[in-house]
Amino acid sequence: MLNAPMPSVLPVYKRAPVTFERGEAAYLFDRDGRRYLDFGSGIAVTLLGHAHPHLVDVLKAQAERLWHCSNLYGIEAQEQLADRLVEHSFADTAFFCNSGAEALECAIKMARRFQHERGQPERKTIITFDGAFHGRTMATISAGANPKHLDGFEPVLPGFATVPAGDLEALDQVIDQTTAALLIEPIQGEGGIRNIDFGFLEALRRIADEQDLLLIYDEVQCGMGRTGKLFAYEWSEATPDIMALAKGLGGGFPIGACLTTARVAGAMTPGTHGSTFGGNPLACAVANGVLDVLLEGAFLDHVQEAAARLQTEMQRLAEAYPGIVAGVRGRGLMLGLEIADGVTNADIVTRLMDNGLLTVPAADNVVRLLPPLIIGEVEIEEAISSMEALFKELDGDKANNVAELETTP
Ligand SMILES: *Cc1c(COP(=O)(O)O)cnc(C)c1O
Repeated sequence: MLNAPMPSVLPVYKRAPVTFERGEAAYLFDRDGRRYLDFGSGIAVTLLGHAHPHLVDVLKAQAERLWHCSNLYGIEAQEQLADRLVEHSFADTAFFCNSGAEALECAIKMARRFQHERGQPERKTIITFDGAFHGRTMATISAGANPKHLDGFEPVLPGFATVPAGDLEALDQVIDQTTAALLIEPIQGEGGIRNIDFGFLEALRRIADEQDLLLIYDEVQCGMGRTGKLFAYEWSEATPDIMALAKGLGGGFPIGACLTTARVAGAMTPGTHGSTFGGNPLACAVANGVLDVLLEGAFLDHVQEAAARLQTEMQRLAEAYPGIVAGVRGRGLMLGLEIADGVTNADIVTRLMDNGLLTVPAADNVVRLLPPLIIGEVEIEEAISSMEALFKELDGDKANNVAELETTP
């Protein structure tokens, strides 16, 4: 173990043998000039595709003026970004950071601090849901409660409890005088593109109101237009008290945000939280550029139309190749193919990549499709025909195997 050759980059990822050099809209190009259709978007990050001209322009313009400025001073691009997120959401105020996990850390701190300041300091516990993913920091792996992410990193932080998603009875049994907040992804991403029933979100909102708990949404993956509305929760009647954003927010420039209401934010006085880089002028300029496009007249309508087209085609594949695809999950352009027993999602992802289509695996033997929101008919047809070619081939292999079994005496 000690003498094993160690790559200079810490090998915490199992990397595919490909290195990309350049991107253009929905396509990536590797070092040999080979073209790939990017239906992973760096895991729901590059939501306007690669090298979007408007994002390149705003990044360059900001780079020539000011890169970094401490939060000890006013930051114009940050104020603009906060104003716009507030205007278009449930929130009254926003804190900026650099990643999804950091946005969740802020959300957890806000919830506890709010309960503390209103005279309920014993309310510390954040209740989360099976299959959740909230990041890789100590607090967020404790919140996610995924044994694979915790193994060897104990002690798990206290103050988290997990219940099955959709199970109100189990939730009722866990809520007590130490509960501070309920934390949920409106659509679970890493967990396998698992839609959370809107009725369940509405029930969580009611429970939170009745028992003075806070409702926290993790929209790090499902937010920022991915479902065809700016935020996934807008499809439901249930708004949160706190919401974490990251991934698509910067379109590829690292930035996270934690949004909340004036009531909760009242507990977050000067000195209670902070970040050196959070809300940096470059990051905020690019995030403003992302919003320029997302909030443009018909952009989200376009996302809904593209999503409807892609979903219809995926459904058709599921019906045509039931031996490969057991079902289709998700909403908008956050979609998952449930891979049938006997085939693994990792194998499908690898073979699609060999055919020039990038996708991402998720739990539950799901292959995630998270294309950039700018895709149109051409990219959808290309992706579907790549998938169909592979499924046809695999289906043939399966049929041959069965035939062989049946003819073997
Ligand atoms: C990716 C993700 C995170 C963590 O974001 P990082 O930027 O990797 O820290 C948290 N929650 C959800 C739902 C995510 O998909």
